[in-house]
Amino acid sequence: MNPLPSNYEILISVLGKNRVKLDEPLGKHTYFKLGGPADLFYTAENVDELIGSVQSAINFQVPYFVLGGGSNVIISDKGIRGLVIKNRTGGIKLKGFTGSALKGKLNLKDVLVEVDSGVPSNRLIRFTLDQGLAGLEKMLGLPGSIGGAVYNNSHHLDILIGDYISEVKVIGKDGNIKTYQNKDLKFAYDYSILHDTKEVVLSASFKLEHGDKAALWEVATSAVKRRASTQPLGAPSSGCIFRNIPLSDAMRLGTPDHTTSAGYVIDKAGLKGERVGGAVVSSRHANFIVNDGSATTKDVMDLVSVIKQKVKAKFGVDLTMEVFVVGEN
Ligand SMILES: Cc1cc2nc3c(=O)[nH]c(=O)nc-3n(C[C@H](O)[C@H](O)[C@H](O)COP(=O)(O)OP(=O)(O)OC[C@H]3O[C@@H](n4cnc5c(N)ncnc54)[C@H](O)[C@@H]3O)c2cc1C
Repeated sequence: MNPLPSNYEILISVLGKNRVKLDEPLGKHTYFKLGGPADLFYTAENVDELIGSVQSAINFQVPYFVLGGGSNVIISDKGIRGLVIKNRTGGIKLKGFTGSALKGKLNLKDVLVEVDSGVPSNRLIRFTLDQGLAGLEKMLGLPGSIGGAVYNNSHHLDILIGDYISEVKVIGKDGNIKTYQNKDLKFAYDYSILHDTKEVVLSASFKLEHGDKAALWEVATSAVKRRASTQPLGAPSSGCIFRNIPLSDAMRLGTPDHTTSAGYVIDKAGLKGERVGGAVVSSRHANFIVNDGSATTKDVMDLVSVIKQKVKAKFGVDLTMEVFVVGEN
């Protein structure tokens, strides 16, 4: 084995020799079960460790990549050079309330919940449901971490997670910590400003209203059932591969109810069941590519190209990827 670069050696000694894995296969850490090795792999168990690992990587000039749940990434077969930080920070706390206290009577409006970025989205959503807090119920069943959900402004049905966020704490490329207010994050469909700044989310604060606990659980349960009946949940995948198509394309094509679903056009292009190697277009949901257990990342990316070409040729629509492709080419 080649000797490690000296900056890797220093970083390992700072993070702890027993805490850093070498050549860790990233397929173990992604929903797609795909991806080559990370040179260095470290798990941050709390916010101090997340901050410390990012700052150390910056100090010793080792490139770093933060992995949340690994449910929205396609990692190359060659893997990731530098340090991969697996985020397992896990704190959730009720931070405060807005409202008024008049003549000793509390009139609570919104409840603020602060959550570390490594918390699984589902854990947060269940917590809010148990507290009788409304807003996130339709998102129950969303895989991955809060950090990944904030990064891409995750959505489900008519809900964007950013609509419920009041502020987000991040650490930047300079190692400094700062707080963004909601409007500064420029949330849009599948977008936050973090795509451009590459800052790492440390925590997010959610602003939620009081609701009826039983009714909220009912909505949440039906959202989960809907997922189970429309998505190939048992098979390794990264969820929807492509973003919605532009409304102008949907109107030009006369899709039913002007649906902007990329799955609709992929299905109509006859691509359900299309295969490259071990990567297959799901027959249950055409916007999902599933790994039959033998796929490589190259198979998936070749299948992505086939889908894009066929949809362009048939409908004149340019599909854009929703999932992030990362790692060495
Ligand atoms: C079966 C299935 C269903 C899905 N359904 C939906 C859905 O309904 N709606 C939807 O929007 N998505 C859906 N997804 C995609 C995915 O679950 C979400 O986008 C999720 O929020 C990603 O979170 P993650 O922690 O897994 O991100 P990861 O895959 O770990 O990372 C994705 C990107 O976010 C970045 N990131 C992660 N953590 C941080 C952080 N702390 N700070 C800065 N950047 C960070 C990563 O660097 C990477 O670029 C689905 C995926 C699957 C497999």
